Amino acid sequence: MYCKNCGNPIDPNAAVCLNCGCAKGTGLSYCANCGQPVAPGAAVCTNCGFATTPTSVPNPNAKSKLVAGLLGIFLGCFGVHNFYLGYTGKAVAQVLISVLSCFGLSFVTGVWGLIEGIMILVGNINTDAKGNPLGE
Ligand SMILES: [Zn+2]
Ligand SMILES: [Zn+2]
Repeated sequence: MYCKNCGNPIDPNAAVCLNCGCAKGTGLSYCANCGQPVAPGAAVCTNCGFATTPTSVPNPNAKSKLVAGLLGIFLGCFGVHNFYLGYTGKAVAQVLISVLSCFGLSFVTGVWGLIEGIMILVGNINTDAKGNPLGE
């Protein structure tokens, strides 16, 4: 097991490289299997054939960016997109502002949700509350 960032051997049980401090598995410069430098963008190590990038497995539980974005745009004043993504505190705040003002301030939360919905769609907000990347 080698650091993919600096190419130094690392303990398979270590979470970070003791040499460069990089989290294990991050970096694309060296082969994790043999420690040889790999060409940028190469899918496998030319030295040993080991895959340089772990095949990304789409998370079946990933929240949908499209759904969250549309919820924000259309139902932002109820914080539905934030409930969906698990940002419960923010979601409750949006609902309370709308409801307690008898919807007098719903345009505020509506615009807030609209902006967040757009940020979700363009990728400025790209994780849910647990830090899981959003799916399509
Ligand atoms: Zn390192
Ligand atoms: Zn290799």
